[in-house]
Amino acid sequence: MDAAYRKELQSILKVRKVTLPQVFIKGKYIGGADVIKSMFEMGELAKNLDDFPRRQPGFVCNSCGDVRFVPCGNCNESRKLFEDDEVFVKRCFECNENGLIRCPYCCD
Ligand SMILES: [Zn+2]
Ligand SMILES: [Zn+2]
Repeated sequence: MDAAYRKELQSILKVRKVTLPQVFIKGKYIGGADVIKSMFEMGELAKNLDDFPRRQPGFVCNSCGDVRFVPCGNCNESRKLFEDDEVFVKRCFECNENGLIRCPYCCD
């Protein structure tokens, strides 16, 4: 998991060890897989997702292949940026610790 997301989840859930999945709907914490499964069985899940745009079944993002992350073009995944004279190396702030950014096509 992306380190920034993990930290955010840890602070929201107030736990040290975060297990996935953790589902949020419209910014409201819903729960993990068990909760989602029982909501689905009771028909509650569909109600909560009513105002969301529906994707075509089988739709796969052309940009990231549904991984939701793509290689950072800013630093070519190196996570480093070189100044013009290539003496100073700066950390790239566009991407996460794996040199990836969120997919601009399917993620906000
Ligand atoms: Zn994508
Ligand atoms: Zn980068």
